[in-house]
Amino acid sequence: MDAADIAPDLTKVLYTSAEIEARLAELAAQIDRDYAGSNPLLVGVLNGAVMVMADLSRALKIDCEMDWMAISSYGSGTQSSGVVRILKDLNTDLVGRHVLVVEDIIDTGLTLTYLMQNLASRNPATLKIMAMFRKPDAMKIDIDVAYVGFDLPNQFVVGYGLDYAGKYRNLTDVGILAPHVYS
Ligand code: 5GP
Repeated sequence: MDAADIAPDLTKVLYTSAEIEARLAELAAQIDRDYAGSNPLLVGVLNGAVMVMADLSRALKIDCEMDWMAISSYGSGTQSSGVVRILKDLNTDLVGRHVLVVEDIIDTGLTLTYLMQNLASRNPATLKIMAMFRKPDAMKIDIDVAYVGFDLPNQFVVGYGLDYAGKYRNLTDVGILAPHVYS
């Protein structure tokens, strides 16, 4: 579905699928250069990063591998709980690997801070972050993000893998969710 299919549920379209695709192509070219010959392991954070992982990995021209983690963060509300739990761990040994964490969105940064500490303790050769979206005004912890798609206003967005109560992940564009949907 695209934004026109659910127009009443969005107050604003922030990025169209074409804009997302173009930005991902730029990031992929950068990652191709930075990781040439190093067979990076892309670590996707379920469920939100499914779309960005699928599109980023296919835009890359270098070899890479993929693995997945599931971490609890939001439940079905719109506020960060700060409660982080590993629901599914990686299948891959990280020792000596070049690990690139692929995230959908960084909001407060609490989830990612926990995740990075956890992954760093597994002795990868390098450990960096790629995030499709980031909300600079919401960040509570300073995190070094090597690759960022777009910076967003501090509002709750849906689409391109980002859900509200399980819905809208299959929205190809990204937009601000209308308050009437969750109030
Ligand atoms: P943080 O710990 O950085 O506050 O939250 C990170 C996680 O919260 C993201 O991976 C995502 O699942 C969820 N999240 C944060 N902001 C938004 C948002 O605007 N929309 C949606 N759908 N999820 C969000």
